Amino acid sequence: MLFDPKGAWEKPCGGGVTSRALKEFSFLLESSSYPKKLINRITMVSPYGRRVTLKVKEPFVIFSRKILNGMILDRAIEAGANFVKKAVSDFVRVENGWRIKTADGDSIDAKFLVGADGAASGARRKLLGIFPKEDLAVSFGFNVADEVGCTDDQGKPQEAFVSFSENLTGYIWAFPRPGVMNFGIASRLGERTTDDLRALLNRYVSDFYGGKMPDEERLEVFGAKIPVLNTKSWRSLKASGDRWALVGDAAGFVDPITGEGIFYALKSAELLSESFTGEKTPVCPSETGQQGSADAMPRSDSDVTSATDYGDVTRRYEKRWRKELGTELERASRMVTRCYHGTFLGHVFSDATIFLAKYHHGVRCVLLKAVIGEQSYVNLKRDLLRSAFRIA
Ligand SMILES: Cc1cc2nc3c(=O)[nH]c(=O)nc-3n(C[C@H](O)[C@H](O)[C@H](O)COP(=O)(O)OP(=O)(O)OC[C@H]3O[C@@H](n4cnc5c(N)ncnc54)[C@H](O)[C@@H]3O)c2cc1C
Repeated sequence: MLFDPKGAWEKPCGGGVTSRALKEFSFLLESSSYPKKLINRITMVSPYGRRVTLKVKEPFVIFSRKILNGMILDRAIEAGANFVKKAVSDFVRVENGWRIKTADGDSIDAKFLVGADGAASGARRKLLGIFPKEDLAVSFGFNVADEVGCTDDQGKPQEAFVSFSENLTGYIWAFPRPGVMNFGIASRLGERTTDDLRALLNRYVSDFYGGKMPDEERLEVFGAKIPVLNTKSWRSLKASGDRWALVGDAAGFVDPITGEGIFYALKSAELLSESFTGEKTPVCPSETGQQGSADAMPRSDSDVTSATDYGDVTRRYEKRWRKELGTELERASRMVTRCYHGTFLGHVFSDATIFLAKYHHGVRCVLLKAVIGEQSYVNLKRDLLRSAFRIA
């Protein structure tokens, strides 16, 4: 059973889905019934105004979150999930699992509980406690409707923008979506006041439109927190326990440097489902030759009871998320300060890499791989240095 009071909704988000995510979850590109923007150029601007435009061979994609959430929900229902459009208000342990209570006073018993309820997860609050302040970033922005240039949705790849500012552990973005331009800013919680961040973003948006903010009626404002775990939290993180598991933001699975979380939400859900089945999850229902992933999943509730040792499931899940995403994200957490405030060849890191990338093919390639999610953070500085000293 899948509980969500909102279903498909415009969750506060950039909606940027990296090339790596598109490779692993190819269904994201398969259907034309879910409109999206293909992006093949990304312009990065340093805190001192240097710019470079990177061209990607395989476009990445920007979705409206209402569309992306709708696609995933449709697939879940197609695969056999029973969608209940209600909020979970509480849950308590009972003999063989959980009693799940919904906001309208109903209750349902379940054998296993998955908290996939985002950064402000009630499941996490009850099972592990909330994220501490130092593990959070704050983020907000505007969707600007009917943006000229974004309305052209003929599958023509377009350009996204990322801009760094002095003393900001985060960045400003401008992402085109079908019919909408999505602007946002993210920074460590408590690093800058909300007024400061708002002023930075307003200046950026106003510059983007030639010195004037778009009319209020075209703006839809959004804001939310993003989990950005520090290294200590990564080391001690547990994402499951006795008949429960957390996935996505609820677990804290977000890249602490870029704030990318859509890939990790999908990936952790896949790892958890594989921990149940012991099999690789088919990416597309048609791969099974039948409805949903019915081949891989237990067919009925009683199959689950008889076949599943939940202790094994959670042990497998802990091992797999740490190996397949935790190790890299923990490494990323060690690099946050270096990326935003460190130096490279004696200059501010983002300024130096953007400057070099403009003139040096090798550096451009490494930066591009970092942007599309294919560059390991562990080797980022080494690879940049190696490429910088290789003749272009
Ligand atoms: C401003 C902003 C910009 C971002 N930009 C990007 C980006 O460009 N690319 C990227 O990869 N990531 C981005 N992220 C991160 C990304 O949005 C998340 O990492 C991702 O959505 C996590 O997915 P999730 O399913 O874990 O949680 P969510 O997408 O938050 O989904 C949680 C769901 O749980 C439901 N829920 C909550 N409480 C309950 C309850 N009590 N009962 C039942 N249901 C409940 C909610 O309705 C919601 O649908 C951004 C985040 C923010 C805040």
